Parts: sequence; structure tokens; C-alpha cells
Amino acid sequence: MIYFVMFAQLRQFLDILISDFLHIFMPLSLRTSGNYSTITRDKRITKRYNLHYLDGMMLLNGKKILILGFASKRSIAFGIACSLAEHGAEIVLSVANDKLAQRAKLDCDHIPDLSIFTLDVSEEKNIEQTMQAIHKDHPIIDGIVHAVAYAPKESLQGHITDNLTSEGFHSSLNISVYSFLKIAKYAPQLMPNGGSMCALSYIGANQAFPGYNLMGIAKASLEASIRYLALDMGKYQIRVNGISAGPIRTLASSAIGDFRNMLDHSEKNSPLDGNVTIEEVGDCATYLLSHLSRGTTGDVIYVDHGYHSTGALSVNKE
Ligand code: NAD
Repeated sequence: MIYFVMFAQLRQFLDILISDFLHIFMPLSLRTSGNYSTITRDKRITKRYNLHYLDGMMLLNGKKILILGFASKRSIAFGIACSLAEHGAEIVLSVANDKLAQRAKLDCDHIPDLSIFTLDVSEEKNIEQTMQAIHKDHPIIDGIVHAVAYAPKESLQGHITDNLTSEGFHSSLNISVYSFLKIAKYAPQLMPNGGSMCALSYIGANQAFPGYNLMGIAKASLEASIRYLALDMGKYQIRVNGISAGPIRTLASSAIGDFRNMLDHSEKNSPLDGNVTIEEVGDCATYLLSHLSRGTTGDVIYVDHGYHSTGALSVNKE
């Protein structure tokens, strides 16, 4: 009898070892193609950790997520869309104009059941119309990601007061912050079963970086908006959080005068090697939009290879 129990335990151990090995080393295309069943592995992990709510499911199976802010394959929104889709979510994209809608169709053709809307968030009435159009086509969604930001290029060069205009200040905060608040107004209607909202921030919200200027002011306001929205949205079972990403080369970041320095400084002073990637940010978004983060709201999570947590690391890193 004792030999039988030992044999059964050994078989279970080998089973898990082999499935973990396959999951790590087998390419994604094979894992999802039916040659190897992710669901079988998930069931084994479910058994091991007693995670009944994951039984046979990917983290975002059956969830529909609206993502604003795709511009190219370098966009953080693209990294997020890929990660969410990989975990089973259906993606609804909102892009600034028709040209970007065409690009999204090409760049995101691997994402199943993708639907695309156009929305220039600088006009308040556009936000209302598009949110209603999305609601008509997709009566229930489960999450919203805001990866939209803008500041006039000249305001991101030199000193904060060098190229400061009232118009630039208003358009930066209107597009980068007000749009998030305005979209949140429709969140209870779009997410009647509760859900999760997430916006993209940068450490320039809390610390001054040369050239980040108006964007830093906008991000500080965005992070405050996250906390106020979280406070009010709790009663609708809607959580509101932010991801503070490390510097990444994208269209938006190319407008920042001192961006090269931001990349170099972050790389030299982060505990983890290299700079952060859109895939790493995407995976954190998957966590924030999934059931796993159900106890977290009003928070901003850093995905910056630990840069925010260090002092003069470059001195010791060599
Ligand atoms: P990106 O240029 O790929 O994305 C910015 C998006 O904002 C684009 O899709 C653009 O079309 C959209 N946008 C600008 N004005 C708009 C308008 N009026 N209406 C609708 N959409 C509009 O750059 P990204 O770096 O992926 O930026 C995504 C988010 O991540 C932004 O909030 C940015 O501040 C934030 N972020 C970026 C970095 C970085 O280093 N790249 C770091 C931290 C946070």
C-alpha cells in the first residue's frame, strides 16, 4: 500500500515537472495550437495550488477590454493588447484617427475578434458619442485601459517656463488627464458587472526630470485622478489603478527633449538589467485587469525594473 501511495505521488510530481518544462520551453504558437494544451497544464496548477477560480481558464477568458492609445507596434497599448489577448481577452481598440485604424488592422491582425473605433479625445462630444457607439456594439465590457498622452513638442524642451503657453497647458491636461476622467463617467454604464480601469503614468509625476515639464504636471494630475476615481467607483465594483512604466522608445516619448538621458539613467540605475519593455508593461496590465488584483484599487504600480526604488545605484553596479 505504501509503495502504491509513493508511486502515485511520484507520478503527480513528474506530471507537474514535465508540464511546467513544456510550458516554459515550448513556443506560444505550439502551446495554443492544440499540440499542447495550456488548459491541461492550468488544471494541474489549479490542483496543486487549489486555485478553483482558474479551473481550465486563462486569466481573462470571456473578458472584453477597451484599450485607448494604439499608434504603432512600439506603443505600450500594443504590448498591453497582445498580453491581454494572449490571456484570453477580447480586445476593443480605440485609436485617434482613421489612418491609425488602418494601421491597427494590419499590426493587430493576430488578435482574434478585434474591433476598432476612432476617437479623438480632445473633443468632449467625441468621447460621449464614441462611448455610446461602443456601448451599442459591446453592451458589457470588463475593463478600460487609457494609454493616451499629449503635450506640444516645444513644451517638452528646455526649462518648464521656456515654451509655456496657456493653450499648451490646457491641451496637455485635456488629452492626457481630462479624457481619462470623462471616459470614467461612462464606466458604470459600460461595465455593469464591475470591472477594472488602468491608466499609464511615469515617475515624472513624483520627481522632476529635465524636459519632462508639462507631461510631469499632467501625470501628477493623472495619478491624483486615479485615487479620486477609485474612491467613487468602488460602489460599482470598478477598480481604478495606474501603471508607472519606465522609459520606452515610442512616438510619444520621442517628443521629449532629454529622453535619451532618461533611458540611459534608468538603465544604469535600475536593479534589473536593461530598460523595461512593452511586453512587461502588458503583463502587469493583465494582472490589473484580472481577478488576481481584485483587492487593489487607487494604486500605481511601477513597472520600471525597480528604478524608482534605488538611490545612487550606478556607483555600485559596475
Ligand atoms: P504612443 O505614442 O505609442 O501612444 C500615445 C497615444 O496617445 C497614441 O496612440 C496617440 O494617438 C494617442 N493620442 C494622442 N493624442 C490623442 C487624442 N487627441 N485623441 C486620441 N488619442 C490621442 O506612446 P506610448 O509611450 O505608448 O504612450 C502611452 C502612454 O504611456 C502615455 O500615457 C504615456 O505618457 C505613457 N508612458 C509612456 C512611457 C514611455 O517612455 N514611452 C513611460 C511611461 C508612461
